[in-house]
Amino acid sequence: MVDGHTKLVGLIGWPVEHSLSPVMHNAAFGALGLNWRYVPLPVRPGQVEVAVRGLATLGFRGANVTVPHKQAVMPALSSIEVNARELGAVNTLVIGQHTDRAPVIMGCNTDDQGFIGALRQGGFEPEDGGQAVVVGAGGAARAVVYGLLWAGIGGVVVLNHTLQRAQALVADLGRQPRHAARLQALALTEEALIESARAAGLLVNATTVGMWPRAAGSVWPEGVPIPAGLTVCDLVYNPLETRLLQQAHRSGARTIGGLGMLVRQGALAFDLWTNQGFDVSEVAALMREACERVLRR
Ligand code: NAP
Repeated sequence: MVDGHTKLVGLIGWPVEHSLSPVMHNAAFGALGLNWRYVPLPVRPGQVEVAVRGLATLGFRGANVTVPHKQAVMPALSSIEVNARELGAVNTLVIGQHTDRAPVIMGCNTDDQGFIGALRQGGFEPEDGGQAVVVGAGGAARAVVYGLLWAGIGGVVVLNHTLQRAQALVADLGRQPRHAARLQALALTEEALIESARAAGLLVNATTVGMWPRAAGSVWPEGVPIPAGLTVCDLVYNPLETRLLQQAHRSGARTIGGLGMLVRQGALAFDLWTNQGFDVSEVAALMREACERVLRR
């Protein structure tokens, strides 16, 4: 029941109708007996700063931020956590409501840790050295590459259809000299992908290829076996088992689906807002159940 004590969080983006975040957060609030609600908040491009100030005025405790506002939101914030600043995107706002002062709005990013948590849960330890191949150079790829570098991966090859975008990612995340030496940008071609994957322990799809309704697509060429020693992670979670993951299964490679990252980044945001010490893995498991119910329907 919503009453005078209900605390509010939400998702700002454009569009937001297809997001699973309201389903997974409200399921976790319900299961854990918290009088909190999560609402979708469609915010047109160009309106994000006004919207964020409005959230604070209305007493919201926080929000998630999705496409296309993850960068545009930054000027509206009181402070930005170091990882969000360095990877160049905010996906979570924490709003401190004070009775005697203006609200404080902190920008965070839980995607990098969400990804690394999902990798570890899937059995891949990034610090064991080795190379990773990341296909894609958008917002999700930035969080993935940043997380891998900080977790201690040996090196990352970033392949993207638009080479300049991969080069910009490598230049931005390689500002620290110890990271620069471990990064390489290449144009996405079948040959470059197959060659890079041969020398790697991890392959991550951080593109939209294979996403519903174009679920027949895969970044990996048909008819070419995926090296069996690879761990293959697809950030796409709809469908739950993508074409790429099917190809990896057939080759005997280990697979990690995109839902793990989605629910972990969500559980980390949940923890930042509620700050009650719930176990992040348990919250993520509740969120996963709720998502699977919707995705399989
Ligand atoms: P984005 O910023 O729009 O980037 C899209 C990426 O896909 C770009 O690298 C783009 O290449 C590439 N791409 C698009 N169509 C392609 C094609 N036909 N062939 C090759 N590459 C293509 O999107 P994003 O926010 O990074 O999201 C990327 C994916 O990750 C989406 O599927 C999203 O659902 C998923 N995601 C999952 C999670 C999770 O928690 N599991 C979190 C965030 C995102 P160009 O640069 O050349 O256009």
